[in-house]
Amino acid sequence: MLKAEYVRGAALEIMEGEPPVPAAGQVVIRVSHVGICGTDLHLLHGAMDHRTGPRRVIGHEASGIVVAKGADVDVELGAHVAFFPLVPCGQCPACLAGNGHICQRLVFLGIDGPGALQQEMVVDASLIVPIDPSVPERHGALVEPTAVAVHDVRRAGLTAGDVALVVGGGPIGALIAVVARHEGATVLVVELDPFRQSVLRDLGFEVLDPREVDVKALVWERTGGAGADVAFEVSGAEAGIATAIDAIKVRGTLGLVAVHTQPRSVDLHQFFWRELTLVGSRLYVRGDFERAAELLAQGVVPADALISRIVPLAQAQSAVDALFAKEDVMKVLVACND
Ligand SMILES: [Zn+2]
Ligand SMILES: [Zn+2]
Repeated sequence: MLKAEYVRGAALEIMEGEPPVPAAGQVVIRVSHVGICGTDLHLLHGAMDHRTGPRRVIGHEASGIVVAKGADVDVELGAHVAFFPLVPCGQCPACLAGNGHICQRLVFLGIDGPGALQQEMVVDASLIVPIDPSVPERHGALVEPTAVAVHDVRRAGLTAGDVALVVGGGPIGALIAVVARHEGATVLVVELDPFRQSVLRDLGFEVLDPREVDVKALVWERTGGAGADVAFEVSGAEAGIATAIDAIKVRGTLGLVAVHTQPRSVDLHQFFWRELTLVGSRLYVRGDFERAAELLAQGVVPADALISRIVPLAQAQSAVDALFAKEDVMKVLVACND
């Protein structure tokens, strides 16, 4: 059984592992596809070495088929399932307040514990979420990033009829745009990369290139001088924060989605002057995961348009390299059993 481990100071190492055996309460998933995302790139840069230890099987955007189970597991063999990678402690103040997804001692599998970039993985049966059998296996890897988008849209309090500006049209920004539009919002996306612009336009979104248009002026014009109800900051760039804030209406909301690894200069006066609300949004709860699986089953998520490339597990490094090199890709998946 092959697995891909991040080795501290090096890169991904593809190696043989022992086939997993499920204990009571556990299942073995034959992993179908695993998405590689910005968090993985961050990890592979060494920024999470304090969490991964010297080596770690990475991968947290995964789905697959249940191929074995231990005692006391009420799941059919052959079931198509997504992997829910969050293990809260259950005892910290955040957990006790019902916010286990951002537990103060959260174990995020694929970073703090073994992830999915392997042919078979054993997980607690409580960490699987059913996917409708009609959903192609390769689409299952999009449940996790779609759950992020579902969570972001929910946290921002977006409602039907809203105008939403999504700043940053990579995979998460695109999924936020898709989910927000499905909720009845009018969505504009700000994106610089020509390939991503074309993918988003093909999905029917109005895409704004801030090098070509005055984003603030255009949003205010489109909204009769009101501004956007919600702006999502998904770019991770300081300029993106300003673009988002400038576009928000009086009493509107800034949804902060991107990971900003350093302090940013932000014009707080605008929050005061227009009584804006800043909402941080991190990960997802199980309900978001279930909703994401539902959106995939309903065909709401344009999975094939967002999956730019699929590489076999033995070449997992090339998936990572494509993202590092900013090649013309949206989502890149690793096929673990092809
Ligand atoms: Zn991810
Ligand atoms: Zn906790």
